[in-house]
Amino acid sequence: MQLVNLKDASEQVSFAQAVKQGLGRNQGLFFPTEIPALDDIDGLLALPFAERSIKILSSLIGSELGEDMVAEIVNTAFTFPAPVAQVTDNVYSLELFHGPTLAFKDFGGRFMAQCLSRISDGNPITILTATSGDTGAAVAHAFHGLDNINVVILFPKGKISPLQQKLFTTLGDNIHTVAIESDFDACQALVKQSFDDPDVREGLHLNSANSINISRLLAQVCYYFEAVAQLPAEKRDQVVFSVPSGNFGNLTAGMIAKTMGLPIKRFIAATNLNDTVPRYLKTGEWAPNATVATMSNAMDVSQPNNWPRIEALIERGYLDKSVIRGESVDEEYTQLAMRQLLKEGYTSEPHAAIAYRAVSHDLEPGEIGVFLGTAHPAKFRETVENVLGTPLSLPQPLADCANKESLEAELPADYEALKAHMFALLKGE
Ligand SMILES: *Cc1c(COP(=O)(O)O)cnc(C)c1O
Repeated sequence: MQLVNLKDASEQVSFAQAVKQGLGRNQGLFFPTEIPALDDIDGLLALPFAERSIKILSSLIGSELGEDMVAEIVNTAFTFPAPVAQVTDNVYSLELFHGPTLAFKDFGGRFMAQCLSRISDGNPITILTATSGDTGAAVAHAFHGLDNINVVILFPKGKISPLQQKLFTTLGDNIHTVAIESDFDACQALVKQSFDDPDVREGLHLNSANSINISRLLAQVCYYFEAVAQLPAEKRDQVVFSVPSGNFGNLTAGMIAKTMGLPIKRFIAATNLNDTVPRYLKTGEWAPNATVATMSNAMDVSQPNNWPRIEALIERGYLDKSVIRGESVDEEYTQLAMRQLLKEGYTSEPHAAIAYRAVSHDLEPGEIGVFLGTAHPAKFRETVENVLGTPLSLPQPLADCANKESLEAELPADYEALKAHMFALLKGE
């Protein structure tokens, strides 16, 4: 697989390089120079999830890793299902929250961890990342116990929910967590400073594992196929996917699936009040506003970092812009949608509810809608209980860690203090 830097076409890299590097020069995203079309889609849809995913990913990655290695990676990473639940006559939910940290980020995080541990060939790596919740947990679980890889996760002390925090601070072993006495922006600034410091970047072999890594996107292509495989065969050419979007990685993956031949009729880019993309699709003007805080906080993004890849899919003629419609849903309609879903017998959380609202609003006769269930409702327990007025029980992974001891260190938002801490921890200095 060859990838090109979208900001500098003279930089072309292999899949392995793109996974290790994350971003290209000038912060450019890597994009495949070629997206293969799959033949015999019906035959593919008849296969079990892992077997089908091996074929899809082998076709994307090509001979670089070899089908045996791709099979090992998939069989280790995709160990939980992505079931489709019927919610109304013509609307379904694709539940992506049955992994160890109960959010769709488990698919990309686990696939990336397995790729990186094989690509790095036993050379030591340090994953350094800042989190406001979901990403940290997915990355921590994905890399836990892998040889020669250490993980350092920074989070703002006291600013994420106690349960969310326990999902990644209780693991121990190669997973090191640090509560920073400040906010999320300060954590991100410390990560950036570390990457800018050659002592740390080279001394500790840093990698960010963030959401722009190409391996995470490729993994996500697979569950769009899994969704269509579970729908009634006669409806398969009428499917509209509604994607609750923040950085737009999920939507990018869906569009790659369509490019490869999956019969998706169109997409809805569903956002909360951070509506840069829906406004752009209506007016043609890219005009991000300041980010506002909402109940669907994983989507509180006004400058989505994957959007250039969607533009590239359109500019390179793979898909027409008309395959995406935008829809922004405010806080009141988000709550209304959660209550409507409960009336249909389906308990959901704010992110998925936004996508449900957008699709139930927009479907045309004969179409069927699939909204992505990006997180388990218990991950947003307080909000869900407040809006729905019913208590939620904790699923096993959350119940398991609720009583474990938190192992994080605490540091002020001070770069030298963090640097000294990391060298002491990882180099025994
Ligand atoms: C990360 C996340 C999103 C947004 O996904 P993108 O790929 O960034 O658009 C939506 N919902 C939940 C629960 C998330 O954790």
